[in-house]
Amino acid sequence: MLLLQTQNLYTYRMNSDRWKIVTKDPSIMNDEIDRLFNDGLAAAPSNYLNEDVIAMLPKKAVTGICRICGNTNVLTKEHIPLRSSGNKDRSTSYSLSQWLENKNIENMGKGKVTQGGIYGFTLCRDCNSATGAKYGNEYKDWSHSGVLALQSIPLDEINGRVGPFAQKIQFGTKNKPVNPGAMVRQVISMMCSLSGTWDIAGMYPDIRKILLGGESIALPAELDLGMVLYAGPRSRIVGPQLKVDVKTMTWQWVMEMAYPPFAFQMVLASSTKATLNGIVMNEWSLKKTKEPMVFMGEIEVGFGWSPYPADYRTLYAINKD
Ligand SMILES: [Zn+2]
Repeated sequence: MLLLQTQNLYTYRMNSDRWKIVTKDPSIMNDEIDRLFNDGLAAAPSNYLNEDVIAMLPKKAVTGICRICGNTNVLTKEHIPLRSSGNKDRSTSYSLSQWLENKNIENMGKGKVTQGGIYGFTLCRDCNSATGAKYGNEYKDWSHSGVLALQSIPLDEINGRVGPFAQKIQFGTKNKPVNPGAMVRQVISMMCSLSGTWDIAGMYPDIRKILLGGESIALPAELDLGMVLYAGPRSRIVGPQLKVDVKTMTWQWVMEMAYPPFAFQMVLASSTKATLNGIVMNEWSLKKTKEPMVFMGEIEVGFGWSPYPADYRTLYAINKD
């Protein structure tokens, strides 16, 4: 399993279909793009841009601010995604510069090896065990269905075509229904960890009500949350990053947790109404934690060959570009 893990702020933009690092490509800068870029930066909380960078996923138990309740406490280990969904083995992570300097996307070479899955000390014990107990099993059930769905798709074949692709999918059965309200709460709680000092739980009080009080409230209007069926082969666990698209002249701050069988993107701010990949989950938190149903829908099937959040292109599509 390959993983992109960034803890610093990186900014980049898309030029036609290619992503480029702004600081490495001043040739495409002009006044208009500069303005777009500055507008995007202005939308970030000042403590996110000005902070002393904290680790996105601290690897040691420290006293710090819990990323859900906001209390200062001893922080405990949170697996992202949950350990029970398969995130427990060795992972290899690469810095953004390693990704960008690498010319052969099918062979990334040596990275930093971590045992025991992807995790960070981000939550206090109470928040960690409360969310785990209430929402953890639901996430595991959805992951199981996601894995089965991926197994039913000829991935090698579609990876050799341009895409994008969608797949009809069902979560739960009449006898064993699912609870989208619990699923989305688990995803939001992992996004709280990833948001770091952007601190979505502190910025939007509704998030704490949704996660800790189990209240039925839609995701705050500023946020968008999307879900894709994700085939990998790499994983991306990415805190808030600014994407500037010079083709559409738009910008977007986005976080992503892409780890098979799912990729979730949360858009934090954007210049126009966000365009999301996959199933939109914004209103799932209107459902109670326990509100069983059979969920049927169509979901985008995506791959992870590049370091860029929400880039689900096939290997063929990337090579073609
Ligand atoms: Zn807490």
